[in-house]
Amino acid sequence: MKVLLTNGHVWQENGFAKLDILIEDGTIKALGENLTEPYAEAVDCKEAYILPAWLDMHVHVGEKVCGLDLADDWQSLSLLANRCGIAGIGAFITERQPTDKNKKPLAEQYNLASRTAEEQFRHAVHWHLTPTVSGVKDVYPLLEQGCDLKFYTTYRPHGLYRSYAEIAEWMQELKDLKPRLLVHCEDDELVDSMTGFNPFHHPFDHARRRPEMAEILAVERILDLAIQHSYPVHIVHVSSPQSALLIDEARRSVPVTCETAPHYLLLNETMLQREDGHRWLCTPPLRSEKSRGELTELLQDGLFDAIATDHCPFTKADKDRHKSTPEQVPTGIAGVGATFPLLYETLVKTGRLPLEKLVPLLTSQPARLMNLYPAFGSISAGSKASLIILQQEPLKNPQPILSSLRDTYNPWQDCCSTTNYYFFEAPYGKQ
Ligand SMILES: [Zn+2]
Repeated sequence: MKVLLTNGHVWQENGFAKLDILIEDGTIKALGENLTEPYAEAVDCKEAYILPAWLDMHVHVGEKVCGLDLADDWQSLSLLANRCGIAGIGAFITERQPTDKNKKPLAEQYNLASRTAEEQFRHAVHWHLTPTVSGVKDVYPLLEQGCDLKFYTTYRPHGLYRSYAEIAEWMQELKDLKPRLLVHCEDDELVDSMTGFNPFHHPFDHARRRPEMAEILAVERILDLAIQHSYPVHIVHVSSPQSALLIDEARRSVPVTCETAPHYLLLNETMLQREDGHRWLCTPPLRSEKSRGELTELLQDGLFDAIATDHCPFTKADKDRHKSTPEQVPTGIAGVGATFPLLYETLVKTGRLPLEKLVPLLTSQPARLMNLYPAFGSISAGSKASLIILQQEPLKNPQPILSSLRDTYNPWQDCCSTTNYYFFEAPYGKQ
């Protein structure tokens, strides 16, 4: 089956070019001016922007988090991806604790999760592994297959905590393969002492118990290790401008990368002061308006490699169950479907970020970080024809911004968008 997309402004790495795209069996065959192909179905894109479909490298799905099943499973995520134009995600597998009655070796957990994802999610998946008891030798075959690692410098009660010394040992033992290491950075010692000073009476206490300084301290320590071991580290969900500046400084000596999430760019800690503040509990917590503003400026300056959502949706019932004892409220918010219309509406249309700067953060850069480039995140011969068609003419009626299709609170409930786009996936099959 051949399709010819004509009259579009096509994304080419750093900008747009007026090109036609010839697609055959779901793959881009050729790009050029005034292409003709006798048996192709022609689609007139009418001056629309044509972009690679989105990639979100930080999505929790099909896992238990805080002991609870997440609101999204692979099937609901697949529907959401189709609707919002997501071509691939980075998902997580955390090795179950030895005390868990469903404990399986990490490799078995991986086989099961990747099989489920293949059957129920029609899009690309890159896996981030968190071994909790397995050692380097046990995980090595999975790392050789292209998975990477995710470690936490906090969450001792959940059995996820790794000391800086342990992280250094892993870097040392993996010095030949050097799979990327994702790190959730919050210094556990500081979190512990702040937690001691600030009892959790109200959702806003979360911000005091896990201050920016905890992230900054851990980022500093991890960057030191990355430089010492010349190791590729990726810092997840950066919420503090100071952390972003430290990472940028370290880039001079080591290939360190980082992501931030839309909620740190667009929301601040006043959400936690609301009556229903528990709904916005996530870790790291939302920050001050000053930090939020600075983080957005650093995004404009190009300090981030990717925007990823840290999609971690709980059902409304699970989020509400312990709202009077916020310490027991599961932390995490939904986000995966919202990113593009939200950022286009709030940053691009307001002139704060050119579309040319937003696109790589959601396409080519996360694709590279997940080893999916150039099959994904690129519009070039040989790439998958998973495309976004963005019309220049906005929608007449603003639409709500969806973060999940499941019964979960939407952190963007107050936002609407007139962003007029759809997901174009070329049909497979011979004509
Ligand atoms: Zn996460």
